Parts: sequence; structure tokens; C-alpha cells
Amino acid sequence: MQGMGASPLDLLYRLHKIDAEIAQIKSRAKHLGATQKAKAVIAAHKAEYEAALQARDRLKAEIKDLELQQKSLADKIQHLDRTLYGGTVVGTREVEAMQREIKAFGEQKDAAELRQLELMEALPEVETAAKDWEARMATLQAQAKAEYEAALKEKTRLEEDFKTLTANRPKVRATVDAGLLAQYEAILKRHDGIGMAEVKDNGACGMCGTQLATKILESTVEGKIVSCPECTRLLIQVIPSV
Ligand SMILES: [Zn+2]
Repeated sequence: MQGMGASPLDLLYRLHKIDAEIAQIKSRAKHLGATQKAKAVIAAHKAEYEAALQARDRLKAEIKDLELQQKSLADKIQHLDRTLYGGTVVGTREVEAMQREIKAFGEQKDAAELRQLELMEALPEVETAAKDWEARMATLQAQAKAEYEAALKEKTRLEEDFKTLTANRPKVRATVDAGLLAQYEAILKRHDGIGMAEVKDNGACGMCGTQLATKILESTVEGKIVSCPECTRLLIQVIPSV
């Protein structure tokens, strides 16, 4: 509680401390989303990540398809071979046609095998890239989850603090001189909820940084009510409490 010697400015300063905290809470609440960086990184790289996985899956599917093609061609060749040497085909033209077919299937099978080997050579690099993306995304997902939970916790804390501060404010406000209060609250409305500024050790306004004239500084030391010529906030010399 305030002592006997609390000046009007001291009393206002108490109100200012509450208002400054409220302003800070509002600002932090507004920027809670910005602290979730991983989420933005995930969104920014989603297309790249999906493309890497698709490239791997496509390549694997193509290899598998070529394997099946080769198996199917081998089966056809085997079937023709059996027919050809089974003694049932006797006509020369028929034999020749079958031999041509066997040759054509064999060429198709060789081409498929060659293509498969090429793709298999390319596979490790594509697989590594996909794996790297998966690992990177898993890390980002974990990070995003942690950030989201932290933001949620912060939000709850800010809400609680806001409730406490706004509940206390009327009591403290009631102790402030009416004229001074009106002046203060008019400034506060214009300046994002901050109507008062502490004078810094170097003689600058604690809010806008303007170097204050000696005369103003002297007035603040005397506890007079003066405004910063730049930001108009009411100035106060705060003697650090021990
Ligand atoms: Zn100022």
C-alpha cells in the first residue's frame, strides 16, 4: 500500500504500471501466432516435400512395373518355346512366325531390363532425398507441436494475468487525482495504452527516446507534472527501490 507521502504522480505511476502490463499482454497475445515458426516452415516446404516423396514412389512403381513386364514377357517366350519344340507345330511359316515373335518378345524384355537397371541406379539418390525430407518434416512437426503447446500455455497465462490486472485497475485508478487521470487517459488512448514514460539515466524519454531538456529533467526531479515534448507522455523519475 502507498505510504503517507505518495504524490499524485506516484499514484498515477502505479496505475501506469498496470496499464503498461495490460498493453504488453495485448501485444504478446497479438503476436502469439508469429511465435509458431515451424508451422510456417512446414507450409512453405510442403510442396517440395510431397514432390520428393512422389518422385520416390513413382520411381519404385515404375521399377516394379518393369519387373512385371519382364516376367510376363519371359512367360510368353517360355510358352512359345514349349509350343515350338513340343512337336505340334510343323508348318515352316508357322515356325518362322513364332520364332519372330520370340525374338520380338526377347528384345522387349531386354529393353525393359535395361530401363529397369537405369532406374535402379537413380533410385538411391531419390530415396535418400525422400528420406531426408521425411526426417526434416518429422523434426518440424515435433517443433510445431511444441510451439503450439507453448503458445497455448502462454495464451492461458496471458488471459489469467489480464484478468487479475483488469480486476485490480479500478481500485488503483480511484486513488489518482481526477484531473491528472483525465490527462493521462487521453494520452494513453493515443499511444497504444501507454500514457506515462520513465526518464532514463541518460536523460531520455523512456518511451520515445527523445533527449529531454535540462529544464524538463529538473522538473521531473522535483516531482512536477511534465510531458515529453515529443510523445506527450507524462514523465516520471523513478528512484530504484532497494
Ligand atoms: Zn517521449
